[in-house]
Amino acid sequence: MHRYARNCAMAEVELLNISKKWGEFVGVADFNLTIADREFLVLLGPSGCGKTTTMRMIAGLEEASGGDILIDGKRVNDLDPKDRDVAMVFQSYALYPNMNVYENIRFPLKVRRIPKEEHDARVRRASAMVELDEFLNRRPAELSGGQRQRVALARAIVREPNVFLMDEPLSNLDAKLRVSTRAQIKNLSHELKVTTIYVTHDQIEAMTLADRVVVMNKGVVQQVGTPTEIYDRPTNAFVASFIGSPAMNLIEGTLQGGTFTAPNVEISGLTGPDGPATLGFRAEDARAETAGQVQAPIYSLELLGDATMVTVKSGGALVSVKAHKDFRAEIGADFAASVPSDMCHLFHSTTGERLN
Ligand code: ATP
Repeated sequence: MHRYARNCAMAEVELLNISKKWGEFVGVADFNLTIADREFLVLLGPSGCGKTTTMRMIAGLEEASGGDILIDGKRVNDLDPKDRDVAMVFQSYALYPNMNVYENIRFPLKVRRIPKEEHDARVRRASAMVELDEFLNRRPAELSGGQRQRVALARAIVREPNVFLMDEPLSNLDAKLRVSTRAQIKNLSHELKVTTIYVTHDQIEAMTLADRVVVMNKGVVQQVGTPTEIYDRPTNAFVASFIGSPAMNLIEGTLQGGTFTAPNVEISGLTGPDGPATLGFRAEDARAETAGQVQAPIYSLELLGDATMVTVKSGGALVSVKAHKDFRAEIGADFAASVPSDMCHLFHSTTGERLN
């Protein structure tokens, strides 16, 4: 395939203890990570957790309060954004309304004084990658939202940067377009093989796109791992509650001699210290049965098409179990589910840290 003709520099990005403070307020705390050459890394977390700030420090749009940023082994803290060889795609893509698609995509080449004779081939290669070849003569106003976002992508691709930074590039698209553009970004990243750092608060985007995910909360990195590692073995209750749809069931109770007890719940065969604990399991890891470790009246029943989601209560917590798609019962009827002990996660009841 057309492996794109970048100058093939290694683009490992190293973040050494970087932080961002505004007065007393810590936006990002001691962030340490090496992003491998050609890796697709996703920064994931709720609004205000410091994702964008981290990205802006890498781009050079925000000065780090402490720490070093290395690209390809070179400290870039003091370099201007334009000298860092990174290209950014934002959620609000500003296209030039008076230029057609071709000129919009070509613009970064002019700014960077790339020799004119290279322009046409590069614009055509970039626009073909995002399937815009038929729209080169149109103006932004004559394009759909998804097509405009693809122009913004092509404008980043055309620069052939060593690092891509993408900040919620799909958030302005409607749900259906988000899914198809997400697939396109995944495919592009496979073809381009360029180090990419991608910011999102959408855990499905993170899981589908990432080689590795960094989960952040309140400026602090919670966990770094492959999507599978983060899904199967969340390091704390925050990560457990943030990844997966529906969120992992989290139940407050007591662990005594390997048995966890809470209202309507009793599960044995667990390992962990005696005392208060938070038990977690995923809806799809439990099974509807005639009797089981979870027994309670049905609180709600949702038909999802491929499954039926049954929800009961344990104390104040809602507990969901994914049942067979044909499962039917009345709200208020008795329900039971089995939860294999090896599918159970235990967390500290106050710190949220993983116990098993
Ligand atoms: P979102 O998904 O909402 O964009 P985010 O995770 O990208 O959130 P950041 O934009 O990185 O969050 O902001 C991190 C924290 O730093 C927030 O609490 C924000 O209010 C704060 N912050 C950002 N910029 C400034 C600033 N210039 N001065 C003071 N605080 C700021």
